[in-house]
Amino acid sequence: MNNDNELNAPKKDYCRPMHTTEHILNQAMCRRFNCGRSFSAHIEAKKSKCDYRFEDPSKVPSAEALAEVEAEVNEVISRNLDVFSKVVTRQEASEYTDLSRLPQDASEMVKLVFVGDYDVCLCIGAHVANTSEIGKFRIISSDYKDGVLRLRWKVDPER
Ligand SMILES: [Zn+2]
Repeated sequence: MNNDNELNAPKKDYCRPMHTTEHILNQAMCRRFNCGRSFSAHIEAKKSKCDYRFEDPSKVPSAEALAEVEAEVNEVISRNLDVFSKVVTRQEASEYTDLSRLPQDASEMVKLVFVGDYDVCLCIGAHVANTSEIGKFRIISSDYKDGVLRLRWKVDPER
């Protein structure tokens, strides 16, 4: 039996390398722009997109800044970090990450997913075991509209 079922059932069976990359991308965006993790994401095997809030147009990252994000994500992937999870109480989880987006009816035990020591967040999706399984990350395009920066990106199996 899949242990996830005892917590909150996953909404979708994500493609593991793409979804794990989403974690790394979110952390890279947070570190550089303090924009928070993507509030809306569409993860597919071939192409994905993530939306970030940038209320102030002057704070929207330039193409150069996004190229640096791309480089950072690839650098993190190349560290061959273990991806692992811990099931903890909400109280313990709050020491690691923001729980404000956790639904009110979520179970008392929640699952933290770590990408080495680079990222930790609440997640119930499926992940690779090590970032060496991911490949090469590439931002395909970005656009900004109504306070939202949308990144379209992909992962090539080969590095
Ligand atoms: Zn996840």
